[in-house]
Amino acid sequence: MAKIQTPQPVRGTQDMYGETEERFAHVVSTFERVRRLYGFKGLQLPVIEPTAVFARSLGEATDVVSKEMYTFEDRGGDSITLRPEFTAGIARAYLTNGWQQHAPMKVTAHGPLFRYERPQKGRYRQFHQIDAEIIGAAEPAADVELLVMADQLLHELGIKEGVTLELNTLGDAASRDAWRAALITYFNDHRQVLSEDSLSRLEKNPLRILDSKDPDDRGVAHAAPKIDEFLSGEAQDFFGAVTAGLDAAGVAWTRNAKLVRGLDYYRHTAFEFTTDRLGAQGTVLGGGRYDGLIENLGGPATPAVGWAAGIERLAMLIDEPSVHQLDAMIVLENDDGLHHAIALLKKLRLAGISADMIATGSPKKRYDKAVRHDPAAILRVNENGYYGLSAEGENPRLLEFLKTLA
Ligand code: ATP
Ligand code: MG
Repeated sequence: MAKIQTPQPVRGTQDMYGETEERFAHVVSTFERVRRLYGFKGLQLPVIEPTAVFARSLGEATDVVSKEMYTFEDRGGDSITLRPEFTAGIARAYLTNGWQQHAPMKVTAHGPLFRYERPQKGRYRQFHQIDAEIIGAAEPAADVELLVMADQLLHELGIKEGVTLELNTLGDAASRDAWRAALITYFNDHRQVLSEDSLSRLEKNPLRILDSKDPDDRGVAHAAPKIDEFLSGEAQDFFGAVTAGLDAAGVAWTRNAKLVRGLDYYRHTAFEFTTDRLGAQGTVLGGGRYDGLIENLGGPATPAVGWAAGIERLAMLIDEPSVHQLDAMIVLENDDGLHHAIALLKKLRLAGISADMIATGSPKKRYDKAVRHDPAAILRVNENGYYGLSAEGENPRLLEFLKTLA
């Protein structure tokens, strides 16, 4: 018979178990705790959306839309895309469900996202984000609220050291358009030194040239016109209110006038928390204000601001989470006591005591097996039921519980 080939996993996907999964879960549970502290509600949204949700909002010329989306026709002939980010889907849901009544709406989401990228450390084709948004809030205090929450999250994850908040403003639509036009003129004057990639971006997405990694581009980008020359008074005031709010909350930031973010929908505030501890994949959390996005999806003008962070990248930065030790491990010393063990196990767990049992293999070796699991306490069970405790733990709840057995 021909040998059956085991299918390989899809390139750029990960199977997580053990420490990798513990790290991942710790990031998510910390995020869930912190977002509740700030009064954000959770959302559960589809992984698949109509392609137009992303194509219309992120911008056709962006990397995500032009080359990274997983788009396919479903059996009914509709164009479907696996979500490459959260924001556009959340905006779509906001309109679909008439959530305007809840504005300003403070919401979070987390889950898998899909981008066809070249897999490497910290970069996958299925990756995961935590995401936070405030929809329907025009005031700079909303930007501040989100940044203070991000800062506290990084603090609670223990990775504030070595992570920097880089902040910029892209101005309002008029400031941004004037700056964009000036950048096109400037880069056109320096065509001869620009990289191939940047030349192709010049007309459609000139802002992206500013954060090009190409050494030749960097020199030209450094001397490019700065957004500050084009900011309207209103845009300046907005940015001033954001930075003053951060200072009031004691959140450290640095200005990065070349920070633009990859998507078309950003206005005013743009930011990234970056680190040099992850090599080339140095951005752990990024976001900004996207006042134009909901209009691009056919909705009413709706100011909004948000951020997203890669769970895998955060998980790589944190210290190894402590392993969850079981409160109790039952050792079944004689197979005739199996039903006593099953009943005891059920009672322990009902009492909120984490427990498992070793009831297979040679009875002589079961005790050693239990010790290897390193539980807080080991309960011995034989044909007469529970009869004693070894490796006594410190868990007062367990000791109370054992008294009830006597
Ligand atoms: P990058 O410049 O690293 O490609 P990005 O600007 O495309 O990031 P965003 O779309 O802003 O990233 O997503 C926010 C965060 O999601 C990033 O800062 C990063 O932590 C994470 N992220 C983005 N793409 C990936 C990926 N392919 N694999 C793992 N994490 C990712
Ligand atoms: Mg990217």
